[in-house]
Amino acid sequence: MGSVEGRVRKGAKVPDPGPGAEEAPWVMDLRGTGPSALAQVRGWARGLLVSLAPEHLSDVLMVVEELTANAYEHTDGPHCARLTALARPCLVVIEVDDPQRARPVVRQPDVTSLRGRGMQLVDRLADIWGVHENPEGKTVWARLGCGIPMRDSCDSPSG
Ligand SMILES: [Zn+2]
Repeated sequence: MGSVEGRVRKGAKVPDPGPGAEEAPWVMDLRGTGPSALAQVRGWARGLLVSLAPEHLSDVLMVVEELTANAYEHTDGPHCARLTALARPCLVVIEVDDPQRARPVVRQPDVTSLRGRGMQLVDRLADIWGVHENPEGKTVWARLGCGIPMRDSCDSPSG
């Protein structure tokens, strides 16, 4: 893939929308929060990504919520959530940091178990996702593009 050149929102520098992006324009600190913060995380992401088309936004919000919920459920809780958005191609990278090295597991669907399907949902919605270790634990990331060319992109004309 290499680097993806694109207009960057908010004038922030986004070096690479792939794994290991060193900086991202939007960060929500989640240290010390509990699962009740999920609604705030969702609202935060929705507020930042207003220019996405409804379907793209809906997918992104599901992944944001799932990755964050996983961190609450399987670790001591997320440290932070990060969003990186590029307009061309229209692309959002979601990253959630948590304090544990244990990797998320994609389980086979199981009608008797609602949980455990989370990463499968992420696997289905994301173009690509992955995990990398960081000094404090790990980062789970997912990248979602909507595949719409810039001309017709879900980037709003005013944005
Ligand atoms: Zn889009």
